[in-house]
Amino acid sequence: MDGVSEAFDARPRRLTVLGATGSIGRSTLDMTARLGAACEIVALTGQSNVALLAEQAIAHRAALAVIGDEALYADLKAALAGSGVEAAAGARAIEEAATRPADWTMAAIVGAAGLRPTLAAVRQGNTVALANKECLVCAGALFKAEVAASGATLLPVDSEHSAVFQALDDPACSGVERIVLTASGGPFRSFTAAELRSVTPEMAMRHPTWAMGAKITVDSATLMNKGLELIEAFHLFPVNADQLGVLVHPQSIVHALVHYRDGSVLAQMSCPDMRTPIALSLSYPRRMEAPVRRLDLAAIGALTFEAPDEARFPCLRIAREALAAGGSSPLILNAANEVAVAAFLAGRLSFPGVAALVERVLDALALDAGAPPPDIMAVLDLDAKARRFAETALQQTAAGAAA
Ligand code: NDP
Ligand code: MG
Repeated sequence: MDGVSEAFDARPRRLTVLGATGSIGRSTLDMTARLGAACEIVALTGQSNVALLAEQAIAHRAALAVIGDEALYADLKAALAGSGVEAAAGARAIEEAATRPADWTMAAIVGAAGLRPTLAAVRQGNTVALANKECLVCAGALFKAEVAASGATLLPVDSEHSAVFQALDDPACSGVERIVLTASGGPFRSFTAAELRSVTPEMAMRHPTWAMGAKITVDSATLMNKGLELIEAFHLFPVNADQLGVLVHPQSIVHALVHYRDGSVLAQMSCPDMRTPIALSLSYPRRMEAPVRRLDLAAIGALTFEAPDEARFPCLRIAREALAAGGSSPLILNAANEVAVAAFLAGRLSFPGVAALVERVLDALALDAGAPPPDIMAVLDLDAKARRFAETALQQTAAGAAA
C-alpha cells in the first residue's frame, strides 16, 4: 500500500463516487452520508440508471452527476432541473468527472470500463478506494506505476483484500509465507457437473451470502471472481503468485488469512456486508461507526472450510494459470469473461460455457498474451480484440448448436 490517508481529519472532504448507482456505489453513499455535513460530493456517475443517479445527486447535494449513456443526457438534465446539480453524459464526461479535485474517490464502475476513470482519479494523487478489481487484472503493472508516480493512496475495498490489508503487520510482506483468500463457493458449491449444465441466470443471481451487482454475482458462482481476486492480490501485495491461495468458506465470515513464517495466522472477520470495508476506506487509518450486523460467533456456531474444486469450477484454474503465465493473459481473461458473463445473463451461453469460452479465447490469442501491454492504449486495443474474438466464438458456438 502506498502511504497513509490523512484525509479523515482534514474535513471538509471532497468525495467522488464512480459507479454510484451500483451495489457498491449505493453502499458507499450510505456511508458517506454518515460522515456529516462537512463532506461534499464532487461527482456521482452511473451508466444508465438516470432516475437513481438524479435522486442520489439531489439527496447528497452533488455538484455534478454524469450518466455514461449519452442518449440519456436529456433525461438526466430534466430530472435535475432546478436542483443546481450540473449534468453531463458520456464516457469522456465520466473520465473528466474523475479529474475534478477530490480528496477521496470510490472506484466502483464494473468491468474494464472502470479503467480510464479510475486512472484519472489516481492521477490526482489523493485517496482512491478501489472496488473495481478489473483495473488491476487488466493493467496491474501500469496501474501501479501510475499510483507510484502520482503518490496516490490506494485502499482496497474488495472484502478479501481489505482483510489482507488489515491482517498484514508489514506492507512489505516480510515474514509472510502465504495469503489465502476465502470464497463462499457460490450458490452451486455442492452441484454436480451434470447439475451445473442446467444452471440458469436466475439461479446464479441468488448468491447465498452477498448482495452484489449482476456481473460479480455470476463471477462468484463460476469462481472466476476468486480467480480475478488472486490477480488483484498479486498486484496489491508484494508476494509471488505461488504464495496466494483460495479456501472455500461458505459462511463468508473470515475474509482472508495471512500466514506468517513463525506459524502464526492472522485473519479478519466480519459479517458479509460491504459497508465494513467501505467504512475502513473512508476512515482509514481510524475506524468509523458502520450500521452492519455485529458478528455473533456463538449464534453462528461453526465456521467451515474446504479446498476449492477446480474440476467443477474451472474458471478458478484458468485465472490461476493466467496469473502464472503473466504478460497480457489476465487482460485477455478478463475481456473474454466479461463477454461470456453478459452472454450467460442474456441466455446465449450455458453456465459451463463461460469457462469454455474464456479458455478458447486465451488459447486463440496466445501469441498476443506473451508480453504485458506497454501502455493504456495497448490495453484498450487488446481488450477490444479479445472481446471481438469472444463474440465471434460465441456466434460460432450458437451456429454449431443450431446446426
Ligand atoms: P453494479 O453492477 O451493481 O454497479 C456497477 C456500476 O457501474 C453502476 O453504477 C453502473 O451504472 C456503472 N456502469 C456499468 N457499466 C458502465 C460503463 N460501461 N461505464 C461506466 N459506468 C458503468 O456492480 P457492483 O457495485 O456490484 O460492482 C462494482 C465493482 O466493484 C466491480 O468491479 C466488482 O467486481 C467490485 N466489487 C463489488 C462487490 C460487491 O459486493 N458488489 C464486492 C467487491 C468488489 P448503472 O447502474 O447505471 O448501470
Ligand atoms: Mg471479494
